[in-house]
Amino acid sequence: MDGTGKVWLAGAGPGDAGLLTVKTRELIETADIIVYDALISAEILSLIPPEKEVVNVGKRAGRHLVPQDEINEILLREAKKGRKVLRLKGGDPFVFGRGGEELELLAEHQVPFEIVPGITSASAVPAYAGIPVTHRDYASSLHIVTGHPRQGGSETIDYASLVKGKGTLVFLMGITAMEAILDGLMDAGLDGDTPAAVIENGTLAGQRRVVSAAGRLAEEAHRAGIGPPAVIVVGEVCRLADRFHWAEDRPLGGKQILVTRPRQSSSALAGKLRALGAQVIELPSIATKVISPNTALQRGMKQFGTRAAQEWLLFTSPAGVRIFFEEMTELKMDMRHMLGGPAQVKVGAIGSATERALKGYGILADVVPDVYCAACLGEAVAAHAMPGSKVTVVRAMSGSEELLPPLLKAGLDVDDIPLYETVYEAHEQIKEKIEALFKQGQIDAVTFTSASTVKGFVHTMDRLDFHKIHAVCIGEQTAAEAEKYRMHITVAKEASIESMTACMLENLGTKER
Ligand code: SAH
Repeated sequence: MDGTGKVWLAGAGPGDAGLLTVKTRELIETADIIVYDALISAEILSLIPPEKEVVNVGKRAGRHLVPQDEINEILLREAKKGRKVLRLKGGDPFVFGRGGEELELLAEHQVPFEIVPGITSASAVPAYAGIPVTHRDYASSLHIVTGHPRQGGSETIDYASLVKGKGTLVFLMGITAMEAILDGLMDAGLDGDTPAAVIENGTLAGQRRVVSAAGRLAEEAHRAGIGPPAVIVVGEVCRLADRFHWAEDRPLGGKQILVTRPRQSSSALAGKLRALGAQVIELPSIATKVISPNTALQRGMKQFGTRAAQEWLLFTSPAGVRIFFEEMTELKMDMRHMLGGPAQVKVGAIGSATERALKGYGILADVVPDVYCAACLGEAVAAHAMPGSKVTVVRAMSGSEELLPPLLKAGLDVDDIPLYETVYEAHEQIKEKIEALFKQGQIDAVTFTSASTVKGFVHTMDRLDFHKIHAVCIGEQTAAEAEKYRMHITVAKEASIESMTACMLENLGTKER
């Protein structure tokens, strides 16, 4: 190869991140640069690693950010640099996605490319509204039509043959021309009582639908204030919409939740919320930057277990656990070095996630406070420790000030070793998209698992009206930090994903939309 890169022309589906293909999901991780459209949802954008280069060439009806030729040029230029270019488009790139046009220039310059089909809104959006686009009893063909034929060109919609076909008709880009389209069909002989539907923001939390007879659809959609992006469906299959209604009926259906979390930690919470029907934006508001080399830690590790009859090791985050053990491996040490001294070794964890992380390394914590809080961990250890014990705390650089006082008060000898710093990160483009969602009232809750996630969030999303945010927090300290910004606060009963999820169901589950 001559150093030329490659372009992947990939579909991202209609919006729900769960409808990304496995291949596209992988490309989001492996590409060098991602060139994406306006229709890519915040949920999907939030999956893009913050260090990745992104270009938003988003087009919205009438407001072209970047003209088509320029997009073609960008793809060519980046591939010529030898880079892996992911061209990410809504739905399927070859279904009214101008995918063909984007390949012309690449083919001309012999730039290698691959096409990754996506789930098209033409079938997926009706599906999320309970409408099967074909059904043995109602429709034996499906016609996908653009409601926006090429201006000034010879193309117009051939209503007569569409009506004659008797199949299901799906119109994309048809909202501004909806009245004309429906009139066109009825003029060509479509019965005005034929069932029809329009679905806005399909597969997303803000999904709305209007189901009506074709003759009244335009008026009813107008009254409901339906706007783009939306899909119009005309045909007998729309009769099934009420019977097969499902997306909004899920426990958290129609809800959009922003999950803030340290980058490296697992997104088990996001998975749980998605399984209940929520759309989840994962904002990696804080990331951990490991302190390296860490002489204090090295010294601490070498002396551990030799300084008192009982020595404690305290962890306050899963990231801390991971970094601690990685550092140990780096020093060519393992747990035997920590246990090899004369001291009895005891381990404390702040909450269940940290406890779980320790378990992953074969260690069962001796002390985990009932309530997730730094002072509680300090008090619990103080209550269990033998007098004169040595306590080593391994945690973030500016960890909670409330952990140490109870330990010191009990006369314990404390060594506080920082393992990592907390830094903030997010793409400017993604920030803008999330800000717009907040402004439109489309984010129902934000989750915070520690005071530093609150700090990270307000630092990253500095232009928001924080007092309008519903914050679901783990622990009183986290809540106290959110309180500073006058957020509307709910505190989960326990420091666990289950408790956070239950809290969401209780607070959002029954809310009318
Ligand atoms: N290639 C895309 C279609 C691009 S044209 C695909 O295969 O889905 C853009 C049109 O797609 C919009 O005007 C709208 O009609 C439809 N569309 C895309 N995403 C949608 C969504 N989430 N909800 C409703 N309509 C959507």
